[in-house]
Amino acid sequence: MINIASPIIGRKERKLIKEVLDSRILASGKYVAQFEQSFAKYSGAKFGIANANGTTSLHTALLMCGIKSGDKVVTTPFSFIATANSILFCGAKPIFADIDPKTFNINPVELEKMLKKERNVKAVLIVHLYGLPCDIDAILKLKKKYKFKLIEDSCQAHGAEFKKKKVGSFGDAAAFSFYATKNMMTGEGGITLTNDEKADKYGRQIINHGRVGHSTHTVLGYNYRLTNLAAAIGIAQLEQLENWIEKRIATAQKYNEAFKGLNFLHTPVVPKSCRHVFHQYTVRIAARERDRFMKYLAENGVGSGVYYSSVIYKQPFYKQLGYKSGVCKEAEKAVEEVVSLPVHPLLSKANIDKIIKVIKSYKK
Ligand SMILES: *Cc1c(COP(=O)(O)O)cnc(C)c1O
Repeated sequence: MINIASPIIGRKERKLIKEVLDSRILASGKYVAQFEQSFAKYSGAKFGIANANGTTSLHTALLMCGIKSGDKVVTTPFSFIATANSILFCGAKPIFADIDPKTFNINPVELEKMLKKERNVKAVLIVHLYGLPCDIDAILKLKKKYKFKLIEDSCQAHGAEFKKKKVGSFGDAAAFSFYATKNMMTGEGGITLTNDEKADKYGRQIINHGRVGHSTHTVLGYNYRLTNLAAAIGIAQLEQLENWIEKRIATAQKYNEAFKGLNFLHTPVVPKSCRHVFHQYTVRIAARERDRFMKYLAENGVGSGVYYSSVIYKQPFYKQLGYKSGVCKEAEKAVEEVVSLPVHPLLSKANIDKIIKVIKSYKK
């Protein structure tokens, strides 16, 4: 079976891990600071705060933006549940705006409708889904007009670019995940980026029990720290990231070319202004065909996945909170039609050819 995801662990990762083990400095250590600096630099942000995972990284980003109990935060319903949960962690209220069916990202027109309707929206949490940047120009225009804090959930978009600039520094803060299946990984891990020195200072407190100095605690904090072990893996992974992204893009281009003539499937749309890093290569297929298509792929040795099979507000927990169905029509349609195909950098040419051949011989 060709897997939908496959982590890569190289020689450098092993070497650095051994160094950390030998040093016996397993919790915070020099690799954490080194990793923070290199990842922030790579992404074009001034500061990076490494932390436990993408979810803690989102929570920290929201707190750094001053999100508190009762605040309204607009986000997309078409994402991993952690996106909206991080808003709830702050005691704030997630408000969902619909997506653009072509890019799967939040639609700035729908976003503005929500900003007008809800008023006093404190922040907007955008998600660069599958590795494709949102419409940053339109969103920054709205930020000017409505004065909200902008947070980028970049958990799937390491190295993605809008107009040649990397995601993660367009807003007030950004969150990345280094979970095992992301475009680069540390097992579990995350980083929060910002260009604001004060926010950076506060963020460092949040992830470390609210501590200043050795034993003074001035704010409510958590233990969201990243380990030296994880950071060592991250340093080695970051060195490979550009290679891996280029491979993903090349594979995606091969798929686009090969699937052009197929009328039962829609290939991903990439706006000219964007560098899509293809965390997922996601196609659309008629809802009634999807199960049979995925079963056919599996029978022919090709793994596939559905990200995500439900909009967030239709999850049982969100229903309990009182969220109703039907508010984001495009997102509700997308969850029925999306299928992601293997696009990870470990795919061989033979793997890619096989995937193309299998899909081309699918009979509706
Ligand atoms: C992976 C992911 C997260 C959460 O990251 P974890 O490291 O798993 O906590 C949040 N948002 C999006 C869009 C993700 O893909």
